[in-house]
Amino acid sequence: GEDTSSPSDPHFHVLMMFTKIDKSRSLQEKFRVAMLSMVKHGDFLEEEVLVLHFVSDQASQELGQRMLQEVLLDATFQYEVVFHDVVELTHKLFPIVEAMQKYFSAGSGAYYSDAIFFLSVAMHHIMPQSLTRIVQVDLDLKYRTNIRDLFQQFDHFPSGAVLGITREMQPVYRHTFWQYRKENPQTKVGEPPPDGLPGFNSGVMLLDLRAMRASPLYNQLLEPGNVAKLADQYRFRGHLGDQDFFSMIGMEHPELFYALACGWNRQLCTWWREHGYGDVFQLYYRCDGPVYIYHGNCNTAIPDD
Ligand code: UDP
Ligand code: MN
Repeated sequence: GEDTSSPSDPHFHVLMMFTKIDKSRSLQEKFRVAMLSMVKHGDFLEEEVLVLHFVSDQASQELGQRMLQEVLLDATFQYEVVFHDVVELTHKLFPIVEAMQKYFSAGSGAYYSDAIFFLSVAMHHIMPQSLTRIVQVDLDLKYRTNIRDLFQQFDHFPSGAVLGITREMQPVYRHTFWQYRKENPQTKVGEPPPDGLPGFNSGVMLLDLRAMRASPLYNQLLEPGNVAKLADQYRFRGHLGDQDFFSMIGMEHPELFYALACGWNRQLCTWWREHGYGDVFQLYYRCDGPVYIYHGNCNTAIPDD
């Protein structure tokens, strides 16, 4: 097919999970805020195209198509919309991620339908080879800047890095790694920034699919035996899917990750402040510098400006 790998590729690929949207007014409203703010600040060159990918079920797709007509009305740039069937993607993903599901999924079994929460982890095997970069974003975001600027962060990846991601802004991994931290009192695992390893948040992720395909280390870490080894070493049990997997392998191999500035995914959830971590909360929550994207995670309201 067409070569989309040249540095001057005019396609900017963004992917969002978009399932069960028809069942939730709250998700519909979040989607509207995200898309309207993306469109408002979106600015591209004449020949460039923003490609919006949605992973969706039939009912959500129909609703999404209707809503997109409205929210894209004021777009000043070219765009394309691609819907991916969640059932088809799950079918491709399950064999690759089945072994990791028991460590990073809610519940004890490896439920087939949960495989989709690991899409980012194996995206380089799922998407066509011609797709070399994609940005995956949550729906509960508000853009305060041109999303095109986010793509320029790819150019700052050092060699060996496969994923650009912002740190987690709550002490959630201080909690998850509790046992490991007790057994290793000097560890940086779960410690706050700037010197600690607080883990990652999956609300905004830059996936360098070409680097993911080319990295022997990254692909070894996906193998069931190695997942088990690391999860046992860190005594890891979580339920946050891809975010847990990336946070865990990032403790061992930080060089696989390019640290996006906190302003690219300014998380607003404060749940852990009220649940036993009030004393250290600010060390994690603090984010100096400009906010490019707000993330209203755990249903937190996003400031008007
Ligand atoms: N999502 C979805 N359908 C759902 C719930 C979530 O498509 O029923 C997607 C959506 O893209 C959302 C993402 O999964 O942004 C992660 O969920 P959420 O943002 O609610 O989690 P949080 O950031 O609060 O942890
Ligand atoms: Mn979110």
